[in-house]
Amino acid sequence: MARIVMKFGGTSVADLDRIRAVAKRVKREADAGHEVAVVVSAMAGVTDQLVAWSREAAGGPPDQREYDSVVASGEQVTCGLTALALQQLGAKARSWLGWQVPVETDDAHGRARIQSIPLDGLRSRIATGEIGVVAGFQGIGPDGRVTTLGRGGSDTSAVALAAALEAERCDIFTDVDGVYTSDPRIVARARKLDKITYEEMLELASQGAKVLQTRSVEVAMNHRVRVQVLSSFNDTPGTMVVDEDEIVEQRVVSGIAYSRDDAQVTLLKVPDRPGVAAGIFGPLADAAINVDMIVQNISDDGRFTDLTFTVGRGDLDRAVMVLEAGRAQLGYTAIKPNKDVVKVSVIGVGMRSHAGVAQLMFKTLAENGINILVISTSEIKVSVLIAEKYAELALRALHTAYGLDAA
Ligand code: ADP
Ligand code: ASP
Ligand code: MG
Repeated sequence: MARIVMKFGGTSVADLDRIRAVAKRVKREADAGHEVAVVVSAMAGVTDQLVAWSREAAGGPPDQREYDSVVASGEQVTCGLTALALQQLGAKARSWLGWQVPVETDDAHGRARIQSIPLDGLRSRIATGEIGVVAGFQGIGPDGRVTTLGRGGSDTSAVALAAALEAERCDIFTDVDGVYTSDPRIVARARKLDKITYEEMLELASQGAKVLQTRSVEVAMNHRVRVQVLSSFNDTPGTMVVDEDEIVEQRVVSGIAYSRDDAQVTLLKVPDRPGVAAGIFGPLADAAINVDMIVQNISDDGRFTDLTFTVGRGDLDRAVMVLEAGRAQLGYTAIKPNKDVVKVSVIGVGMRSHAGVAQLMFKTLAENGINILVISTSEIKVSVLIAEKYAELALRALHTAYGLDAA
């Protein structure tokens, strides 16, 4: 007998029929004698609608406390409905909102981080055989107000709950049957991976593969939670996220991710002197704008430099404002923002011991006539920024070039 956490995403609880199917699946585990906690997302599309309504009501970026109060409501509905569907099947079940568990977070409304999950009543209740249905994505802040964990945050709710409950596994049920070598909706020949390392999953998620929220992988890695990604629509085995030593056959590249969440900024003809970078990136950091990729091109005479870097697409307008405010001091001649870009990343722990991975990426893109705007690398990843219109072409060409295509 095990203690398990089962998380169901938006498409898996999209309507009452699907919620009934989820309830059946959950009851099967409870009937087998397991202690079960369930975490649910809002119905597919609901959070998007709630986000849009908050912006509309506020006439712009909303007050973050009220935003949280609105967007957290989607999960309240599905957790109550799932508990009802379980009761309808004759199971003992009870819903738990974030403040009831309680899922205690910091005060960063809209993107809060979980601090602790004291589990006052939940642990003892599920030990009696009652199924605990927890609302994902939400918690309670130090101010006693509801917080949310950032988009896709129900994954993190589930993994953190599994860690707190010391659960044997955390199953993430979604609309694909596992983690693939690339997004299966774009790369038709993507292959399902039986296993993937925490580190690779972390890079894949942070480079845009939204199948797991990045933070959920961090929590899983830190607490060694056994996470499985699988389909809520069939019974095929999914993908296990595991330690590196559990993977016998090492691949050089395991996956290719893409992100449309970035934007490019170029500053032209910045006088090149010590302190330029600090003068540019300091004020951006002060405005809490994260900069990801950076390249610098120095002119022939060495007096000027063009600086190109990326920020989150949602931060672009603010970044331009901050830089324009410092224009007199920085001395650049023009600023060029560009949203029509996509970041494509190849990821694999095998890169540590194999040369030529980046070169194959550059060569493949060149053969397809795709110009690279910015490059960045880490120990197990190479990322390039390219024009957005080439996203699909680049993903498919790279997938083939690295030998990842399904047979
Ligand atoms: P849920 O609502 O269940 O949380 P998400 O939409 O957040 O589901 O995540 C699942 C989606 O992630 C899939 O439908 C798929 O399009 C996308 N995805 C992106 N990259 C990958 C990948 N490498 N493997 C599997 N799915 C991926
Ligand atoms: N419902 C939230 C969202 O759409 C959280 C989640 O689905 O994980 O972002
Ligand atoms: Mg998700």
